[in-house]
Amino acid sequence: MKYRYLLLILLSGLLSLTGNAKQTVTDSTVIITQSEVFDATVATEQYLQTLTEEQKENSDAYFEGGYWLDLWDLLIGFVIALVFLSFGLSRLIKNIAEKIRNVHFQNFIYLVLYFLFSYILVFPFTIFRGFFREHNYGLSNMDFGGWFSEEMIGLALTLFFGSIFIAFLYWVISKVKQTWWIWGSTIMVVFMVFSMIISPVFISPLFNEYKPLEDQKIKEEILSMARANGVPADNVYQFDASKQSNRISANVSGFGGTTRVSLNDNLLNQCSSAEIKAVMAHELGHYVLNHIYEMLIYIAILIFIGMAFVNWAFNKLITRFKKKWAIAGISDIVGFPLIVFLFSAFFFIASPVMNNIIRSNEVEADIFGLNTAREPDGFASVAMKLSTYRKISPGKLEEIVFFDHPSGKTRVYNAMIWKAEHLDEE
Ligand SMILES: [Zn+2]
Repeated sequence: MKYRYLLLILLSGLLSLTGNAKQTVTDSTVIITQSEVFDATVATEQYLQTLTEEQKENSDAYFEGGYWLDLWDLLIGFVIALVFLSFGLSRLIKNIAEKIRNVHFQNFIYLVLYFLFSYILVFPFTIFRGFFREHNYGLSNMDFGGWFSEEMIGLALTLFFGSIFIAFLYWVISKVKQTWWIWGSTIMVVFMVFSMIISPVFISPLFNEYKPLEDQKIKEEILSMARANGVPADNVYQFDASKQSNRISANVSGFGGTTRVSLNDNLLNQCSSAEIKAVMAHELGHYVLNHIYEMLIYIAILIFIGMAFVNWAFNKLITRFKKKWAIAGISDIVGFPLIVFLFSAFFFIASPVMNNIIRSNEVEADIFGLNTAREPDGFASVAMKLSTYRKISPGKLEEIVFFDHPSGKTRVYNAMIWKAEHLDEE
């Protein structure tokens, strides 16, 4: 599901290693045998050839389609902003909200209506991308009812928490005027931390059931790695992602006291113990290397730059379209659709930067994982399993611009280099 407006809640999911393993479930770990001298490049090629041409075409099409859908997402955002501003929907819902006396509560009602109407306007795109397309590529296990009810939970969270949060932001804006974007950025960062703290405890359980890891053997292996790296043992969970899809996934979520490592049942059911170890060592890497806190700092910086841009562009545009839009100033809620569009346009342009920030942490976690699990073949075969969902072998520039995780090819190659250099240590 996609929290379209509470994009910051997404952060809790950013550090996840996800993928789909539907088509390679049965072949478990493929140990590539070495000839006389182990050659990492040759071994990598051997791994890549375990995919059929058809599997490769499918995953390329799915992933490359995503680039275009992100662009469409932005264009649709532009149209929505037009509908609200130029066709007067924003003014109309403000008039409805004004039937209430208290001005801050007016803003809250405006926001609920704004989120609701824009959700409805985007819905055809949402259903195509989130439901039909996923089914077309065989990536979803959900029937329409299940998918829709998750959408409704997401929408309800946005309508309630999103509206309260933004209404609070407008209350602050009404006090500080010109410096609003500095205060706004600060409050957004605070809200992001708050979302990260509550997410594993209150948000994630709305979608999946989380419980302590059941399989004792796997549990001991993971906990042993956790202990060796100073990760508290009671922070490892499993959850039932198979109700949504066949994707293998594990993640680190939370903040401070709620930080935890979770792995899903697909990973447990579809992978060998070497593969599970390799993935979990990667996740422990995120935990041990404090990636959540590092990400928070990077994203906070991006938010400040983004808000400075919004401030600049907003003032220019409301002067330019003074007659048409009649937005009184930054504290006039009628201008909110413009802020949303400018902010999402900024993050669209900044997405290669964002991808590189995330991917550099993923590379670190990969290295940590290889050193900790010492399962290069387990890691390589999981990287192959993620290929139905992520293009396995992109061009160099393509990987830099579009990939928020290293590609399968890069991961397999790095694992094989590691293997080549540690062959004599067994
Ligand atoms: Zn990761």
